[in-house]
Amino acid sequence: MTFNSLNLIDPILRSLKEEGYTTPTEIQEQAIPIALQGKDLLGCAQTGTGKTAAFALPILQHLAANSSNDPNRKIRSLIVTPTRELAIQIDESFQNYGRYTGLTTAVVYGGVNQKRQVKQLKRGVDILTATPGRLLDLMNQGFISLAHIEIFVLDEADRMLDMGFIHDVKKMLRALPNKRQTLFFSATMPKEIIQLSN
Ligand code: AMP
Repeated sequence: MTFNSLNLIDPILRSLKEEGYTTPTEIQEQAIPIALQGKDLLGCAQTGTGKTAAFALPILQHLAANSSNDPNRKIRSLIVTPTRELAIQIDESFQNYGRYTGLTTAVVYGGVNQKRQVKQLKRGVDILTATPGRLLDLMNQGFISLAHIEIFVLDEADRMLDMGFIHDVKKMLRALPNKRQTLFFSATMPKEIIQLSN
């Protein structure tokens, strides 16, 4: 299988070629067609398997279909991940894979002053990657609204629960529109993850 047979748009295929990707990994081959159809997905995959592109490529493709550069546009996709390092990596992946789509990204995480992050948010962001604590903090301050999220990703869901983020995750879920696409990724599938995804 090649990326060409996954029905991805040219701006994405171009960046993948530049990244040197020739063949989709197993999780990409399985997840991309489902996500491109707008379906919800529960993916079992660890870091290092290519799972970031498995959710990033369908998101970029969906959002690129009607993008805008209005600074007041709403955030349309949210990726929540447990650690700052993962958040930064995911945001970098979106920037790499999306470099020909014209879509913009931002990343927010705790442990640093929020000023730069707020400034970035004010420029207009299509895709936001966040860790739970800082996300809820910026939501409470009115800098982030989840009211227009079309695609929500919960990354490393099992680790998120292990780190005690279950209440934060539930709060986030309540702030999301009911009509949305949800992609869950977890390295393991304990019953808490199945319950949460149900
Ligand atoms: P991830 O599991 O998303 O953290 O990806 C692990 C590493 O694999 C990253 O360095 C990616 O750049 C790389 N990668 C992801 N998909 C592919 C692919 N289809 N071909 C080659 N490398 C890839």
